[in-house]
Amino acid sequence: MPETIENPYPIELTAPDIDRWQAGNAGLDWIWRFRADAPGPHLLISAVVHGNELCGAIALDRLLEAGLRPTRGTLTLAFMNVEAYRNFDPADPFASRWVEEDFNRLWDLETLEGPRDSADLRRARSVRPVVEAADHLLDLHSMQQPAAPVALAGMAEKNVALAKGLGVPEVIVRDRGHAAGRRLRDYGPFDDAARPSTSLLIECGQHWEAAAADLALECCLRFLRHFDAIDAETAAALAPLAPSVEQKVLEISGPVTIQSDSFRFVRPFNGLEVIPETGTVIAYDDETPITTPYDDCVLLMPTRRLWKGQTAVRLGRYT
Ligand SMILES: [Zn+2]
Repeated sequence: MPETIENPYPIELTAPDIDRWQAGNAGLDWIWRFRADAPGPHLLISAVVHGNELCGAIALDRLLEAGLRPTRGTLTLAFMNVEAYRNFDPADPFASRWVEEDFNRLWDLETLEGPRDSADLRRARSVRPVVEAADHLLDLHSMQQPAAPVALAGMAEKNVALAKGLGVPEVIVRDRGHAAGRRLRDYGPFDDAARPSTSLLIECGQHWEAAAADLALECCLRFLRHFDAIDAETAAALAPLAPSVEQKVLEISGPVTIQSDSFRFVRPFNGLEVIPETGTVIAYDDETPITTPYDDCVLLMPTRRLWKGQTAVRLGRYT
């Protein structure tokens, strides 16, 4: 399905060679688990759910290299869709987002336990016990377009609280995900308001900008500090933690899901643009105008992958 997508952005990051982490220590390739003597929650940090998103791989590579260990509970570091990641090619950097299908749209029982098969689904099935063992998940991602970083908290208030516990980035998004399939961060108890497990997906910046890797590492350290799994000195030795910022919540009313083979935006959008007036045309899906449903409508992560059934953009407003 994916045709080549032209890349207008500089590639400031280098994909680290993670082959040295392949063996893992938890019975599964590329999965590392460390247990402290003191009891505490099981924390999971996941990277390369999308193969062309380098910031998470850089952060985990850094934590493993530094020999980071939790002072309580369990910490699992997981390189997820490694087959896609290993296909990363700076000359065609959009192509390695996945192998055959989006790893981050597979996280419902129907798909995980169903008859479908793909390289991405096989990896999802094999790491499913790793995901299920975790109490709290930090999932590191990045974005196609250069826009301010965002924390995707799903709908449950507990995950908005986790985003506030981290203290960065500025924008926290409450959203329901995508029509095309369930995300890892929404899997099982993570998005169930009645269960204590929490999860957060951070879009750390544009896929290949240097700042995205810095933020990914910072988010790891803040996540570990939030659960009291490392001390302040350990965190400070790995990265300077800037003061927490004043955060605001962007409530997503829904995704714009593409209905035709001819979807186009009326102008280029990077994301987080605020459209003042209700009824402003932002795109055409074939001949149907797509308009903003309310004043001060915020566009979240418009895509270049304008394919039928996919999310073109999500719309929301600050609360
Ligand atoms: Zn991603």
